[in-house]
Amino acid sequence: MEGLVLRSTGSFYDVLAADGQKYVCKVRGKIRLEGIKETNPVAVGDRVTFEMTNDVGAITDILPRKNHMLRQSVKKTAHAHVLAANVDQVMLIATVAYPRTSLGFIDRFLVSAESFRIPQVLVFNKKDLLKDDELQLQQKLTALYEKTGVTALTVSALQESQPDVLALLQGKITLIAGHSGVGKSTLLNKLAPHINQKTGEISGFSEKGMHTTTFAEMFAINNNSFVIDTPGIKEWGLVDMNHQELSDYFPEMRDVRLDCKFGSRCIHVNEPQCAVIAAVEAGTIALSRYESYLSMIAGEDNRK
Ligand code: GDP
Ligand code: ZN
Repeated sequence: MEGLVLRSTGSFYDVLAADGQKYVCKVRGKIRLEGIKETNPVAVGDRVTFEMTNDVGAITDILPRKNHMLRQSVKKTAHAHVLAANVDQVMLIATVAYPRTSLGFIDRFLVSAESFRIPQVLVFNKKDLLKDDELQLQQKLTALYEKTGVTALTVSALQESQPDVLALLQGKITLIAGHSGVGKSTLLNKLAPHINQKTGEISGFSEKGMHTTTFAEMFAINNNSFVIDTPGIKEWGLVDMNHQELSDYFPEMRDVRLDCKFGSRCIHVNEPQCAVIAAVEAGTIALSRYESYLSMIAGEDNRK
């Protein structure tokens, strides 16, 4: 049979088959995927083949992936793991206040998604709480990220209906991520009340507690739209990439850097006649984005 992996606990997988039934499966033997150093690389969103010989099925193979999103632990000693496979877009939930999501975190997440060529949506939540200056900051950030090709919108998850978010999710598989406390569960519950995510104190507790899971889970929000919820993320590390490669994942730098005097050898840090630095000085590349770039170049990607 063929099916879609909805959930993983590391050793068991919930697989949705074409007949609409869910089956609990394990992986039979080892499955290796090119380029991934994991012995059990089955991820949420994978399409797999499996056999039911008794109560627990056996996943026999992973069908070719369209893409995957890797999560790198900030401890570089740990392997990156596949957060989800076959996603159409990622949606990062962020807040400019209560709590404040740092721009460094937002940029590392967006750069990671861009490195897998996965389109990005940025949702600023808790609009209802914001004071004037915070609202202004949020509007400024919305404009800044829209310019880099990210779809950005502002919501309050307390509102019962969320037409703007739903419109963006329609017909797609969307990986949803965010620091804990930004309102991801509250928003998911409004999008699909049947999901019934635990909000507030309970997720706050599990974040500190013993059961902090690192696995994602897929839910249908209607016939052809799916979300993959990920556990609250504290930090986002970058997968190893070389300096030349990094500016590839800043869309606003891609064309500009062609004019650097040292061409593809320029890493836009202190080279003379660097077109990227000139664009930052001219204000066409946002200073905050360039600062994120510099901190990634410096390997400071474990800061919040
Ligand atoms: P999660 O950790 O990202 O899943 O965050 P939760 O959904 O558990 O929300 C954390 C807290 O923020 C809860 O107390 C929510 O009620 C509150 N919250 C979430 N979204 C909003 C919002 O848009 N406005 C306000 N005022 N509070 C919110
Ligand atoms: Zn340059």
